[in-house]
Amino acid sequence: MPEPTTPFAPQKGNDEPPRRKFLQALAAVGSGAATAFVGAKVLASREAQAAPVPPVLAESTGNLIVRMQQELEAALASGKTPSWLMVVDTRKCIGCDGCTIACRAENPTGPAGSFRRVIQLTLPIGPRPWAIYKPANCLQCDDPPCAKAVPPGMINKRPDGIVEFDYSKLTGPWAKAAAEACPFKAVHVDDGRTFTENTPRPQAYESRSFVENGAVYARRPGANPLAGVARKCTFCSHLLDVGVLPACVTTCVGGAMYFGDANSPTSLVNEVTGGRRIFRGHQNLGVKPRVIYLQESMPGAPHIDCAACHS
Ligand code: SF4
Ligand code: SF4
Ligand code: SF4
Repeated sequence: MPEPTTPFAPQKGNDEPPRRKFLQALAAVGSGAATAFVGAKVLASREAQAAPVPPVLAESTGNLIVRMQQELEAALASGKTPSWLMVVDTRKCIGCDGCTIACRAENPTGPAGSFRRVIQLTLPIGPRPWAIYKPANCLQCDDPPCAKAVPPGMINKRPDGIVEFDYSKLTGPWAKAAAEACPFKAVHVDDGRTFTENTPRPQAYESRSFVENGAVYARRPGANPLAGVARKCTFCSHLLDVGVLPACVTTCVGGAMYFGDANSPTSLVNEVTGGRRIFRGHQNLGVKPRVIYLQESMPGAPHIDCAACHS
């Protein structure tokens, strides 16, 4: 198989252009005008028109985690193949980045980045600045653009929906191709470095062993088998497979993260999304993401939501 030359033109990030559009929309709202721009975008948002803003689930975070854990155990015990889904209620996210730290601790990465980030946007509306936090990781797309950028077999869908990278193959130019093809900027190419290398006291926690995609790795300075490899969120499959919820879900202090089996009609993920106003990133690309956001609405302008700019 020849190496890719220019498999994809460099992809623009998914944050900046929508952000610009969103600020344009805001400027219009601030001027008191129901602008044609915002109006057209909102009308284009079918789901926004069809469904109400979902109420925030007020049940305690602890109770929700217990319920999700019980559902996970039941799904694994059922003998049926689950269909994993992650749901984020951005209204409950306080932008603490605790989930990012938990992800880094569970899935060691170096200074080059992590599998997860929390995007922040502060908007100058209402009585005080209004902040939106959007946790972001690989969306485990059902029609993943990353897989189309590399030879068959390098990126595979598990029966439960998780998109799995073959770390033995997804290196060098193929790693770059997968990263450039992801419209969500969710691929992390490991550069092999650690935070404490070349310091008086390199820390052992950085070179500890961990499991990813069914294999055991250790990021040892100068001997990192993952250097140059494309890595990404696995939905913490190594935990799921033994009946433990993903680290970001159990760590979220805001109770903003839901996880479960979409095949179970009574699951929490179905409860919080059923008939509700939801948002899937880049719907226009048809990638069918498995991370779903409960739609935000703006104070003073409830008809404006995420899809107004991100559809
Ligand atoms: S979010 Fe990106 S890396 Fe994840 S499956 Fe979709 S295209 Fe691939
Ligand atoms: S599911 Fe696991 S790998 Fe994915 S973002 Fe959460 S903690 Fe990180
Ligand atoms: S831990 Fe929860 S509240 Fe904090 S940034 Fe992550 S998703 Fe948001």
